[in-house]
Amino acid sequence: MSFWNSARKKLASLLDPPKNTLHNSTICLILSRFKLRIGWIFEQIIGIRTNLPLPSKWEIFWQILVYFVIEDYFNCWIHRWLHTKWGYEKIHHVHHEYGAPIAFAAPYAHWAEILILGTPTFLGPVFVPGHIVTLLLWITLRQIEALETHSGYDFPWNPTKYIPFYGGAEFHDYHHYGGCHSRNNFASVFTYCDYIYGTNKGYRYHKSLLRKRDDWKPHQEDED
Ligand SMILES: [Zn+2]
Ligand SMILES: [Zn+2]
Repeated sequence: MSFWNSARKKLASLLDPPKNTLHNSTICLILSRFKLRIGWIFEQIIGIRTNLPLPSKWEIFWQILVYFVIEDYFNCWIHRWLHTKWGYEKIHHVHHEYGAPIAFAAPYAHWAEILILGTPTFLGPVFVPGHIVTLLLWITLRQIEALETHSGYDFPWNPTKYIPFYGGAEFHDYHHYGGCHSRNNFASVFTYCDYIYGTNKGYRYHKSLLRKRDDWKPHQEDED
């Protein structure tokens, strides 16, 4: 018996991983089980594919484009509702604490707003289910877009300048600047919804004033 016990101890000492490794492995195991469950939920209920083959680039492109358009449309209307007296005072005022946003202001919001505005993120995948890789890429791109839109930087070399109807930092900055009185630029990604529903008139007027100022400056310098 003592022979078996000592043999087992020797073997166990060889196989025993360091405590940290064991701890990390346990976390990884729990997370991977959790991920598998999430994958199963998406596969069974929504119809998201989690197996091979991987989606083509074209499939990823058009599905993510559809997800952006669907989310933008619903977010625009939900955001308008959040600017009603009740919606603003109870929920949306937290996000508007940043009159001039920074990237970290993107997720800074009331928990109810995160839930409400987070829902349209999944409407696209529900309406047009694709592959789990597409879903993860979509969520990643949407997060990057939110950080960029709230960054407060409007770089002229930004690749997003080539995306048609893209709002960007300047577009959303104008919305934050208005605070509780803001009635412009409700859409989160594109500009066309606010154009169609006439909720960009103040912004367009502001832009026209800026253009006039820029046109006027050189003449002013000539006279000097
Ligand atoms: Zn707002
Ligand atoms: Zn914002």
